[in-house]
Amino acid sequence: MSDNSPTLFTRIINREIPAEILYEDDQCIVINDIAPQAPVHMLVIPRKPIPRLVDATEQDRAILGHLLLVAGDVARTAGVDEAFRLVVNNGADAGQTVFHLHLHVLASKDGTQHFSEAKL
Ligand code: AMP
Repeated sequence: MSDNSPTLFTRIINREIPAEILYEDDQCIVINDIAPQAPVHMLVIPRKPIPRLVDATEQDRAILGHLLLVAGDVARTAGVDEAFRLVVNNGADAGQTVFHLHLHVLASKDGTQHFSEAKL
């Protein structure tokens, strides 16, 4: 996206739009997805508004690693660390709708993987 207006997720980070915030630190925030595709559906979002994964650069190496570690941490906190999936949609044709990088963390509540893959 070419305009410089804050992304939806930046507006959530700035508390301009409400969301269920599960975790945050100086580099990222974790929220519940508003339209969950699985019983557990969290979004791990960097504060830095990298539009797509392919827009990340060498400068983003540490933050990308951090996002993965946080995904594992919040999965553990949610009690689904034995069975969860990570999804990153890159580009509109791959289903990306919010152009601010985010990791989908998807799991069933009992740790099995019997959840809908209809969208993701
Ligand atoms: P993607 O399609 O990969 O770009 O994922 C964007 C995700 O953001 C979708 O799963 C949406 O359900 C989710 N989403 C959109 N608006 C909100 C919101 N206000 N709060 C939480 N999640 C949202």
